[in-house]
Amino acid sequence: MFNNRKDTFLNLQGQTNQSPYLIDVEKAEGIYIWDKTGKRYTDMIAGVAVNNIGHRHPKVIAAIQEQLDKHLHVMVYGEYIQDSQIALAENLASILPKSLSTSYIVNSGTEANEAAIKLAKRYTGRQEIISCKNSYHGSTHGSLSVTGNDEKQSSFKPLLPQIKFIEFNNIESLNIITDKSACVIIETIQGDAGLIKPNQAFITALRKKCNETGTLLIFDEVQVGMGRTAKFFAFEHYNVIPDILTLGKALGGGMPIGAFISSKEIMHSLTHNPMLGHITTFGGHPVNCAAANACVDVLKEENWIVEAETKGQLLEDVLSQSSQVKEIRRAGLFLAIDLGNQDKVAQVVKKCLEKGVIGFWFLSTPTAFRLSPPLSITEKEIKEVGETILSCF
Ligand code: PLP
Repeated sequence: MFNNRKDTFLNLQGQTNQSPYLIDVEKAEGIYIWDKTGKRYTDMIAGVAVNNIGHRHPKVIAAIQEQLDKHLHVMVYGEYIQDSQIALAENLASILPKSLSTSYIVNSGTEANEAAIKLAKRYTGRQEIISCKNSYHGSTHGSLSVTGNDEKQSSFKPLLPQIKFIEFNNIESLNIITDKSACVIIETIQGDAGLIKPNQAFITALRKKCNETGTLLIFDEVQVGMGRTAKFFAFEHYNVIPDILTLGKALGGGMPIGAFISSKEIMHSLTHNPMLGHITTFGGHPVNCAAANACVDVLKEENWIVEAETKGQLLEDVLSQSSQVKEIRRAGLFLAIDLGNQDKVAQVVKKCLEKGVIGFWFLSTPTAFRLSPPLSITEKEIKEVGETILSCF
């Protein structure tokens, strides 16, 4: 119908970005992606914090192949006992606190957040939801409703009612949380806001306020979970445990998945009034669960989570040498390189791409670009790619 792949892509695939990257992908392995011309890119984004263990990790591929030989989809979520689902549930329970031992596997990050909000409403019997300004929780209606970004919301109103927004790191704003609030949903570390870490005092006060008011605390770790910040989960940095945790992205080792995780007691409320309080046909897909289970194994076996701190620091040190860099905000191997200027960011990202290094934007922070390479990247590779990025400033 169209005589080149780019036109087919732009015309027959629904588009929402006016200037997509257009890398024409041939294959990917480890920290690299190759295009159809044979050009190799160092993937410093990892599919936006997805390929934490690199592309096509052999253990993930083996787990997928093993599952392919057994069965694909056999039934909607929660009816049959399936090997890869229970293995993943056990594996997740082994790396999480006891109060987060029951996981419900869904299809994506946004579905995990949708379901987490429903769970909080159902468990508390309350309707009000508290979220955070400048947050990102996903693109479906419920998640968009709690995404603190007017520009992203305005064309899609009406959204969910009874949502109030606190300010990240503003303890006074926590006063809007009351015994009418079902939950607070918050990114443990704000990602798309340009990587904003919580102050210890703020996150401690948030937990305390939720305890005092009987409000469930939901940490959205779709982006910052699974080792990205140099702990398995970002909340481990702050000694604060949520009532519900949501995961996605890196959990699947490259396959699509999401999870909302809570205690057995809280999760149990979805079994009645109404029964089947959250339904998903493909949630817990056996192949995706097999991949996710292998991904958790790899992260347990390797030392990559611990190393994410030193590797992240190394990358920060290399890039800090440029006088163009106004600020680097960093959590483990997740970096926001703030150049204080939107055009400069566009220039640098474009130049990097020409030189075979993939960096990416933040949704709502135009003056910075993000780097979130696979955690498997070596120090030598970080030095090399860091120098290449430096040469693009
Ligand atoms: N929550 C956060 C913090 C995210 O960064 C994202 C995606 O970027 C989501 C939720 C939505 O996840 P998904 O794109 O899998 O629906």
